[in-house]
Amino acid sequence: MASASPLDLKLDRALGDRTAAAFAKGLGLRTVGDLLSHYPRRYAHRGELSSINELPRDENVTIVADVLAVNHRPMRAKRGSILEVTISDGKGILTLTFFNQAWRANELKPGVRGIFAGKVGDYKGTAQLAHPDYELFEELVDDLAENASIRADPAKAKAWAELPIPIYPATSTVASWQIQKAVGVVLDTLGPLDDPVPDAVRRARSLVPFGRALELIHRPHVDADWGVARKALRFQEAFVLQAALLQQRARLRETAATARTAGALLEGFDAALPFTLTGDQRSVGEQIARDLAEAVPMNRLVQGEVGSGKTLVALRAMLAVAQSGGQAALLAPTEVLAHQHLRSIVRTLGPDLAARLRPTLLTGQLPVAERRKALLAAVSGSAHIVVGTHALLADNVEFFDLGLVVVDEQHRFGVEQREALRLKGRQPPHVLVLTATPIPRTVAMTVFGDLDISSIAELPAGRSPIESFVVPLAEKPGWVGRVWARVAEELAKGHQAFVVVPAIDRTVTEPGAPVFTADSSATTRSAARVSSGSPGSPGGAGGAGGAGGADIPGGAGPHGPALLAANVTDVLATLRANPALAGKRIEPLHGRLPSDEKDRIMREFAAGDIDVLVATTVIEVGVDVPNASTMVVLDAERFGVSQLHQLRGRVGRGGVPGLALFVTSAEELTLARERVEAVASTLDGFELANKDLELRQEGDVLGSSQSGGRSSLRLVRVAKDGELIAEARELAAGILAEDPTLAEHTELRDALERRLDAESEAFLAKN
Ligand code: ADP
Ligand code: MG
Repeated sequence: MASASPLDLKLDRALGDRTAAAFAKGLGLRTVGDLLSHYPRRYAHRGELSSINELPRDENVTIVADVLAVNHRPMRAKRGSILEVTISDGKGILTLTFFNQAWRANELKPGVRGIFAGKVGDYKGTAQLAHPDYELFEELVDDLAENASIRADPAKAKAWAELPIPIYPATSTVASWQIQKAVGVVLDTLGPLDDPVPDAVRRARSLVPFGRALELIHRPHVDADWGVARKALRFQEAFVLQAALLQQRARLRETAATARTAGALLEGFDAALPFTLTGDQRSVGEQIARDLAEAVPMNRLVQGEVGSGKTLVALRAMLAVAQSGGQAALLAPTEVLAHQHLRSIVRTLGPDLAARLRPTLLTGQLPVAERRKALLAAVSGSAHIVVGTHALLADNVEFFDLGLVVVDEQHRFGVEQREALRLKGRQPPHVLVLTATPIPRTVAMTVFGDLDISSIAELPAGRSPIESFVVPLAEKPGWVGRVWARVAEELAKGHQAFVVVPAIDRTVTEPGAPVFTADSSATTRSAARVSSGSPGSPGGAGGAGGAGGADIPGGAGPHGPALLAANVTDVLATLRANPALAGKRIEPLHGRLPSDEKDRIMREFAAGDIDVLVATTVIEVGVDVPNASTMVVLDAERFGVSQLHQLRGRVGRGGVPGLALFVTSAEELTLARERVEAVASTLDGFELANKDLELRQEGDVLGSSQSGGRSSLRLVRVAKDGELIAEARELAAGILAEDPTLAEHTELRDALERRLDAESEAFLAKN
């Protein structure tokens, strides 16, 4: 238990039961610490008048204005009601709209003056603010005498006009000004606070003390105040987070694992390899060998481009574990990839080693008899390599001596799943995570801060160049014909092509495939099925509103943004009917096909029997067909930057030069188009990862588990604060190395305990 701190005081003691209950329910704030770290989202100023007549559309504005009229009415087409509030700055008028928030009429009364902030939208030609933040001045200066004295004194009036007004993230039940008041009450009685950042560090970085920073972020007198406050609190946040991650890493290392030393198995394997390892494969391999040889569990992330040879590195680790009779489990994100991994492992091992190690497949779609055999092979220990999907996590899967867990493509597996596999060993197994998504260093430090990280940057020799082009249908609608002509040319040279689309048919997107809507940068994880009758459903298939009759596969005609995502069924039909592709074998591949059929189609494509594969992102990662030269992505703007990059990585793998065509109907200068252009402009995955980070929103980078929760980042922004994060980590590492129990750093120790308490509380609340 952390020693008592004013931050641990429950809000009911500080604010009374009713307010505390409202804050707990509406905002999840329970303690003084919770409330004080509920920072203002922004600051507004009373004197900062933007003229309503000159409001820029699509920008965030702050306006001081009076409420003129309020109108509440039911909506016509949908259920619910709309509250329209007309405000004026004396020159122009502007409408505020609130959906299903009739209660706001109680405070937004005609004649009330306030400050309104939000993004200016356009509704039928008139400017409006939908759901703006606002502060009503009466709430702030309710003392009439004070009001009068401000008006009388020019200096006071100026200060009043320039005073930053904190705007808090609020809810329908707790308004921003209520938070402001509550924070004021708490700050007025707050005792001295321990600062988890050591004094010397704080002084060296010219950071204000913790208590002062809280005062300044909530009650700044001038704008510079909150800048100073944020600087201090941001550093503290990064520092405590990194210390927590490093401590977590140290905890994992406190448990015992079986040390594994490579021997004759690996030597024989290396000697038989038809190529030499790249320098990076060799050095990462050595790091892993050192980790495995220790009696503490390895937790290592290996990142490297598609085709950089990560799977080979993992296989060599499996051989080291098998040397002492141990087993390795390889967790793949899809059935297709599990199958492919098994095939390529068997092939790479060669007949003798394969017979000894008995690589075994264990997936959800195995026939019962085969599945039973696989389970037996795992529990008896006869299979030294078990390859599978999520099915490996099931309770009935047991191992005789699980020594190593390899997780392929980390971004699709959560921490919980890693944990479930970890628990399958009698002792914690070593864990190796592979990812082909280059992760900027700071993101890696923040998201995978409890893992050691290795990178394979060097590609095996003999990789061919890939040319990438954007096919901009918005400007050149006719170019789609040229795309198929170009594909036909490649086929004529004896090569093969992938055509990737976002949806399976007109109503179904690939389950789990992240799909970007044409006009937003947010990732919408598509629901398993997006039915065509539900415009506005969150599935990302653009609401699939039945805009049928599109003549271009891709749905997006020249007439505007695609309503209908390009889909396997339609594109397959179009290509089979295309005379330029006559006589070619064109087949579909997507997640709804039975697994034996997917497997057969992949095998036939790999063998060169299929010329064109029309597929969803099931082919995204790991698929290896050296003779495939061309990757066409339709509706490319619906895919993420890293997805496009990985898709492109499917070609240019053999001696054949690669060609990637990103077909998009996104307009020039839109964010959606910029993402696609970014991918076409470089082959460097790390550069793209950084670009992606710039173009994305923070929450997407960290994944849902990392954003939104109470333990999430508040002020630190991984995209911008890279240097800060790195410095904070180094500092935390130094302190933990010298003082592992933090006996000499009790303030930090308490902050970490408080953090863990908050986390487990949030965990308990969820489960
Ligand atoms: P990744 O898992 O990183 O995508 P893989 O391990 O699947 O990459 O390797 C891709 C292909 O390159 C495989 O066919 C593999 O056999 C081959 N390969 C791996 N390492 C080398 C190397 N050092 N030299 C040549 N080819 C290699
Ligand atoms: Mg791979």
